[in-house]
Amino acid sequence: MYELHGSVLRNYCMQCKKFYGPEAVFNVEGVPTCECGGIIKPDVVLYEEGLNQEICSQSIEALLDADMLIVGGTSLTVYPASGFIRYFHGKNLVIINRSTTPYDQMASLVMNQSLGSIFQEIEV
Ligand SMILES: [Zn+2]
Repeated sequence: MYELHGSVLRNYCMQCKKFYGPEAVFNVEGVPTCECGGIIKPDVVLYEEGLNQEICSQSIEALLDADMLIVGGTSLTVYPASGFIRYFHGKNLVIINRSTTPYDQMASLVMNQSLGSIFQEIEV
C-alpha cells in the first residue's frame, strides 16, 4: 500500500489516461485497474517519486494563501508532507489520519480514521 498525501480525488489510467474518482482506488482489493486493463494510478506524489519543482512552489503559494487546510493519510512526520504544512498559517487545520500527528494540537478538527473510510462516507 502506498502512503499518500495531496489530492486523492483524481486518479488516472496509466495506459489510456482516463480519469477516475476516489471510489476507483478506495473500494477495490489489490491494484485498481481500468476497463482497458491499465493500472489506475492516484494523481498524487508518492514518496518513492521525486517532487516536481514547479508543483512544489505552486503548493507552497497555495498554502500561504489558504484559510483552511485538510491533510489526510499522513502522520506528518515524513517529508514532503511535514515540510509543506509549515507554510500554512490559515485559521482552520483539519487532520484526517489513523494515528495522532505532531500537529493535532494546532488543528481545529482531528479525525482519527483512515482517509479511505472518510471518503467512503462521502456521497459522490
Ligand atoms: Zn485505461
